[in-house]
Amino acid sequence: MSLVTPAQAETLIEQHLTCLPIESLPLTQSAGAVLRENIYAERDQPPFDRVAMDGIAIASACVPAGARHLRVTGTQAAGDPPQQLADPGTCIEIMTGAMLPRGCDAVVPVEQLQRDGDLVQFDKPVQPWQNVHRRGSDCRQGALLLAAGTRLSAPEVAIAAGAGMARLRVSAQPMIVVISTGNELVEPGEVIEPHQVRRSNAYGITASLRQHGFARVADDHVRDDEAELTERLGFHLRTHDVLILSGGVSMGKLDLVPRVLEKLGVGLVFHHVAQRPGKPMWFGVSQAGPAVFALPGNPVSTLVCLARYVLPALRAAMGQAPSAPPRIALTAPVEVRAPLAFYMPVKLKHDDWSRTSAEPCPTNGSGDFTSLAGTDGFIELPPGPNNYPKGFVARFYRW
Ligand code: AMP
Ligand code: MG
Repeated sequence: MSLVTPAQAETLIEQHLTCLPIESLPLTQSAGAVLRENIYAERDQPPFDRVAMDGIAIASACVPAGARHLRVTGTQAAGDPPQQLADPGTCIEIMTGAMLPRGCDAVVPVEQLQRDGDLVQFDKPVQPWQNVHRRGSDCRQGALLLAAGTRLSAPEVAIAAGAGMARLRVSAQPMIVVISTGNELVEPGEVIEPHQVRRSNAYGITASLRQHGFARVADDHVRDDEAELTERLGFHLRTHDVLILSGGVSMGKLDLVPRVLEKLGVGLVFHHVAQRPGKPMWFGVSQAGPAVFALPGNPVSTLVCLARYVLPALRAAMGQAPSAPPRIALTAPVEVRAPLAFYMPVKLKHDDWSRTSAEPCPTNGSGDFTSLAGTDGFIELPPGPNNYPKGFVARFYRW
């Protein structure tokens, strides 16, 4: 059995992935998508000298020292075209968001004014450009606002709208199918016999994909039967971009998945990774394009391999700029016995100085997924044998 290391597996997956096509989405549907074009400022921002307070607009140089009395000659709201100050001894009533009237260079807020009919009085000295958000002070027309590869969350969607973009060119969502395998598996809600097992992995995988913004996720279940596997996997290879399988990749007589995939023309890239849990993981790419992640069926292995390899690969295929997982320190020692990278589920802890550390939450092996309740993810420890002390820093992967 030839093993690759987790780092090699990651590189091999990256080398075999193709970028997903581009689609154009209306802004309202773009949250969570990955941008595939640069967005530039449509105009200076702000696009004009913008009034930043409700009050009066004045010409600061013409206001006499001491008590200030001015006559209000007009009112200008946000969205109104700019008025012209008639005479330096007058002022224009003004609203936040309005363009600064011509001939004015400062705004005195309404809170500092005493008003008597069309006369206003104020005492505080006035500085030129006070309470004015100057044209172009945030950015200049043509400035790069958002780069291709940015994942769009609320501020980025607002920025794109501010740049006048009604639709955005983003990565098309991959068509993913999650396929569980195994004769022993029974759907939640159906009657179960003592010798049978709930089909939990497909639900865990689908939940993770949805949580990470992948919306086009189909689901199937196939028995450990070569003819049925060949027919169903052949169909999914023709209709999806990514296949995520669980189970059937170990050394047992009924672990038929690798053989069937290779028979269907899916080229093996690696089988077996020097890691625990998740050693039997299989990855290949079909000549026609789809990538196939065949994950071991033990529920902890499935979720670990999903977060460690599949989610980052999907993000890369969407064109998202890569980001290394954070490094976090252990709150307690962890012993790693085998010469395999070891994934330890953890809960994140935050102290009063906002330092984050990882509390180990051991499981009873790769079948024990009940221990994962309340964990945030896992850290990757280097191969043993070794006893990694409290404070040891390792990469953290979120579920
Ligand atoms: P396999 O990788 O097919 O040998 O499965 C390893 C273990 O994981 C067996 O105990 C299976 O019953 C269990 N298993 C496989 N697939 C699932 C699944 N979808 N949900 C829950 N357990 C599973
Ligand atoms: Mg099985």
